[in-house]
Amino acid sequence: MTLSALTVPMLSDNYAWLLRDDATGALAFVDPADAEAGAAAVDAMGGKLDLILLTHHHDDHIAGADAMRKRYGARIVGAAADAHRLPRLDQSVTEGDTVAFSTFEGRVIDTPGHTVGHISYFFPDGPILFCGDTMFSLGCGRMFEGTAEQFFASFRKIAALPPETLICCGHEYTQSNARFALSIDPDNAMLRAKAAEVDRMRAAGQQTVPVRLGDELPVNPYLLARDAPSFGRIRSMKDSFKG
Ligand SMILES: [Zn+2]
Repeated sequence: MTLSALTVPMLSDNYAWLLRDDATGALAFVDPADAEAGAAAVDAMGGKLDLILLTHHHDDHIAGADAMRKRYGARIVGAAADAHRLPRLDQSVTEGDTVAFSTFEGRVIDTPGHTVGHISYFFPDGPILFCGDTMFSLGCGRMFEGTAEQFFASFRKIAALPPETLICCGHEYTQSNARFALSIDPDNAMLRAKAAEVDRMRAAGQQTVPVRLGDELPVNPYLLARDAPSFGRIRSMKDSFKG
């Protein structure tokens, strides 16, 4: 029994994700912004889609969801708290709820900060986390709606997951995140090595995600933040960083 997560690049720098049950080929789609790109990915993998998982209400994560439900008859899952600004939900979920996918179960984790209704989906059988715009490799999402306290608490929940968890995030922002992280943590040797690796991968046209949680713990400034005020301070420094 294994689950795989595959990136589906969309728009300019978005990543949607396909979750696949390797035994049966069953598919779930996470954050379909673009129905055409999404359908091309699903069709290339057998043309059946059971489930659409939404992490938050931003257009670059949901715009293709209704069209993909119509095309494949998939069920849409999203945050109950944001039902009013998401496509019509077939299953509304909140912290601790489970989402059935094939013979597996995902657990819903409330991860507010980028938006107040943001949720993430954790599949222990990966282990795989779909965290939308909460956490990126070496970074975190913009704090549009939540507070530093909320965002910090969300990161503590992620940090407590198994270190081998694959972090499947919503954007390819790693290289610019690395420049900022180095500016505030220049003596971190692991971060310097990671940044060099990211530069090499991007120069070769490669994607830098997914990443393992255990590899992010010593280099991601927001996982390293020791409390909510320092989390908030780092986030606002990043907002004004010109790197
Ligand atoms: Zn967003």
